Parts: sequence; C-alpha cells; structure tokens
Amino acid sequence: MSLPIRNVAIIAHVDHGKTTLVDALLKQAGTFREGEDIPDCVMDSNDLERERGITILSKNTAVRYQDTLINIVDTPGHADFGGEVERVLGMVDGCLLIVDANEGPMPQTRFVLKKALEKGLRPIVFVNKIDRPQATPHIAIDKVLDLFLELGADDDQCDFPYLFGSGLSGFAKATLEEDSEDMRPLFEALLKLVPPPAGDPDKPLQIQVTTLDYSDYLGRIVIGKIHNGTIQAGQQAALMREDGSIVKAKVSKLLGFEGLRRIELETAAAGNLVAIAGFADANIGETITDPNDPQALPLIKVDEPTLSMN
Ligand code: GDP
Repeated sequence: MSLPIRNVAIIAHVDHGKTTLVDALLKQAGTFREGEDIPDCVMDSNDLERERGITILSKNTAVRYQDTLINIVDTPGHADFGGEVERVLGMVDGCLLIVDANEGPMPQTRFVLKKALEKGLRPIVFVNKIDRPQATPHIAIDKVLDLFLELGADDDQCDFPYLFGSGLSGFAKATLEEDSEDMRPLFEALLKLVPPPAGDPDKPLQIQVTTLDYSDYLGRIVIGKIHNGTIQAGQQAALMREDGSIVKAKVSKLLGFEGLRRIELETAAAGNLVAIAGFADANIGETITDPNDPQALPLIKVDEPTLSMN
C-alpha cells in the first residue's frame, strides 16, 4: 500500500484556471490507469460544476499517475491567509504555478510565489489557457521570469521548468510547436521535477496539524503531513500543544486522499498527507506525536500582517 508520493501545492491568481486544471488532472488520471473503476466525472449542470469547483479547491485532492500518488494542495491566494499559505507550503516539496497566458502574473500569483521561493521550492510554471486566440504565452513566460528576478529567486529557481497548455481542453505540452492531446506531459513533469518527500518512517511519529475540518460523524478532523514515523488507525498518540503540554488520544479514524474523496487507511507513513479523527481539541500548528517519545515539530511562524504584499 506504500506508493511513491509527490506532494505539490498549486498556486494561481483567481480565475487563472486552478480548478479547471485540477479537474482535468482528476479526470485523466483515471484514464491512464488500467482496470479500475473511475468515478463518473461527467457534469450535467452548472450547479454541479460549481459545487465540484468548490470541492476541488477546498479539499486536498490526490491523483494517481502510474504508481505514484500525487497529493495536490491548494494555496489561498490572498494576503489575509499568509499564515495558512506558509503552513500549506510546509507540506509540499514542489509547486505548480498556473499563469493565464493572456494576463500574465497578477497580485495573488506574486504573493504566494514569494512565499514559495522563500521556502526554497522550485516552481514548475504552467502557462494556461493557450487555446484562446488572444493568448500570448511567450510574453507571459517573460513576465514570470521578471517576477522571479524581482522576488529575489536564486539561479536554480529562475531556471524554472515550464509547460504550456489548457486545463479546459485538457492538454499540456513542453513547447508550443509540439502536439499534445492530454495532460501526460504535466504528470510526467510532476513526477520528475517534484522531489519525493523526505522523512523517516522508522523515527518517532510527527505530524503537523495544518488544516482543521469537521464532520458530524467524526467530529474534528486534523489534516497534516506525516513528517516522520508511521501512524496506525486505532493507535494511541500524543498531541503536543504550543505550551509544551501533552494530551493523549486515540486515532479513531485514519484517512488518506484519493481523487476528491477520503479513503480509510490502516496505516500511513512519513511523506504522506492524512486526515485524522480523534483529536477533538487539536489546534493548527501543534504536533501529533509518539506518546512514548513525544517530539514537537517547530511551530510555523505566522508573519501577519502581510498587507504590503497587496
Ligand atoms: P480558478 O479561479 O483559478 O479556480 O479558475 P477556474 O478554473 O474556475 O477558471 C476560471 C475561468 O477560466 C472559467 O470560466 C474557466 O472555464 C476558464 N478557463 C479555465 N481554464 C481555461 C483554459 O484552459 N482555456 C480557456 N479558454 N478557459 C479556461
């Protein structure tokens, strides 16, 4: 059950096509797999499409390409969510920067990109909507490079890999001249260019609480990355609070991501992103850890206000 993993954040200014692109990846990931039922993705009304869009952006999404699980996490684009952006970027080893081929980088692109560069991530740039007649992909790429330079990206970051494509038409390609009918080049780029997550499954458990969710059935759900160790459904674990105190609780449910759904897991190891029920009063930034060898992860600083970025 332990698949190779890639964790990638997705960055884009509003309307540059994040939802549509992730939807294309979801739909196509199924078609590249053999002998498996894929959920019916056909949308038959605008309402359904809207609802699906909200779901895609508000939840972690995971696609499987060949044998690799690619966890895709959304990053809020607004400066009000500065702290959340940092936490999300702490879960990933790469990011996909989507830029509208006509508009080029916009303020939200800039805000999140700055954070990603500061984290040392090497973004993959996706120049989107090239199906539109007015698209100017080369100008968009030049503007992206200008932005990287302005934001103080290092040489490696400035030598960013890029692809062109259209989430709406469902294709990606490395050059404008090339023919492509699907997202395969983007999947391949994610596998090749996003490093696999670090972390040691044999070390004491450490999961940083990054997002909170709630279900009527399970109560508070903690979402985060397993930085080290291995977690089992039903095990006792310790929650290490900001003040250093420890609360013990049972992992009543362990969930992983698959498409837009969460699937129940028996066990999950370092590198993966999981959702956990059982920690009724966990807070963002705290660490779920081994009760016999509790070790906190460093709290992620929240450097608000970030108003200057707007
Ligand atoms: P988000 O705000 O970044 O999630 O953007 P959406 O995915 O909701 O897309 C915003 C608008 O751009 C919608 O009307 C989409 O249909 C349209 N759009 C997204 N991707 C493409 C594309 O590749 N080509 C064209 N022509 N339109 C697109």
